[in-house]
Amino acid sequence: MKSKPEITEETWRSNFGQFAPLPVCDHGKGVYLYDSEGKKYIDFSGGAMVVNIGHGDERVAKAMQEQASKLAYHNRFDLLNEPSLELAARLIALAPEPLTRIKFANSGTEATEAAIKLAHQYYLEKGNPEKFMVVSRWQSYHGTSLGTLSVSGHTLRREKFGSMLFDWPKIPPPLCYRCHFGKSYPNCDIDCARALENVVRQTGSRYISCFIAEPIGGAASGGMTPVPEYYPIIREICSKYDMLFISDEVINGLGRTGKWFGIQHWDVSPDMIILAKGLSSGYTPISALLISDDISRVFEEKNARFAHGHTLAGNPVSCAAALTVLDIIRKDRLVERSESLGAYLHQKAKDALLKHSIVGDIRGKGLLLGVELVKDKQTKEPFDPTLGIEALVHQKAMQKGCLIYPGTGTVDGVGGAHFLVAR
Ligand code: PLP
Repeated sequence: MKSKPEITEETWRSNFGQFAPLPVCDHGKGVYLYDSEGKKYIDFSGGAMVVNIGHGDERVAKAMQEQASKLAYHNRFDLLNEPSLELAARLIALAPEPLTRIKFANSGTEATEAAIKLAHQYYLEKGNPEKFMVVSRWQSYHGTSLGTLSVSGHTLRREKFGSMLFDWPKIPPPLCYRCHFGKSYPNCDIDCARALENVVRQTGSRYISCFIAEPIGGAASGGMTPVPEYYPIIREICSKYDMLFISDEVINGLGRTGKWFGIQHWDVSPDMIILAKGLSSGYTPISALLISDDISRVFEEKNARFAHGHTLAGNPVSCAAALTVLDIIRKDRLVERSESLGAYLHQKAKDALLKHSIVGDIRGKGLLLGVELVKDKQTKEPFDPTLGIEALVHQKAMQKGCLIYPGTGTVDGVGGAHFLVAR
């Protein structure tokens, strides 16, 4: 083992925004991470929903090294590169039917920002320049830039920047455990989906370019999984009012939920899909926006260029890493394993945790599972947020060598706590 690096107060504080001197992570192998003192952790949140093939995979490291030696970077306005062309073709072949084009970026935030801007430019090119607003949901998270934070219904991340954000409409989260409409499925007419139509009619569809949602909710909702009718109704409303439907699969995408894409659980075709985290399993930054044939056709007909891009997007090393990750997912049958192991995980979690007095709900699909923590199981009263119950549970799990992903604001943006586990 290497000697332990010295972490003084000054060194950890120099990493701006770091609130505590956390252990230093030394290396990872499979599902495990090891800190510089030799403590072993099971990475039970996939490095917060990123790592889907495991840590320390030599196949990815080798592919990246070979690609970096051959060609690490070139200006994308001058030339194309093989790994990005191959990755584009492979992702398009995997994607649901109408998605035939791809735009690479480096993070979930960047790809989501691109989706929002592309939705607007699409309508601009079609002669509807007023269509720019994005409808989204409360208890959602889509990124940290001002555009993506505007569509994120995550109070904690928004509150300091509220005055800088676009004031765009949001609909209630489709969470049966806490039905916003006080109803119970199936006797509810899926009001949570129909809320989209109400907002569109009240705001005016002429101003709205798209609706964005995470198929299965992540950081802000703790694995919220809408009922089977939800996305078909959402799709119908988007088509009826000429709005695009964007599926944010930054967490859901590439097998984690037991299908290649989370939205496939609802058998619905979105107009765009956003991929990030699992695309390279964390080996290197990369994200992608999958775009429908209809959108690209409008740009082609108008000979219009999407006025958006990033210097390092589609760089050969990141694309080589992602190609190897896709190979591993396919060869090791990880999508199928997410489905079967996920069923096992959900059953075991229900057996072990639901009897606990502070566990209110368990939700999610495949190897994405959320646990909502409540003060009172009967009334579903949340804990006082100042108690930080999710942080206490996280701390306790970490002491025992298990890394989970805590979250807050599950109920109304302020109250409510949950944690997520994932692979
Ligand atoms: N969208 C979703 C659903 C996310 O969970 C996240 C990050 O957690 C993002 C977008 C933003 O991705 P990134 O942190 O890579 O910018």
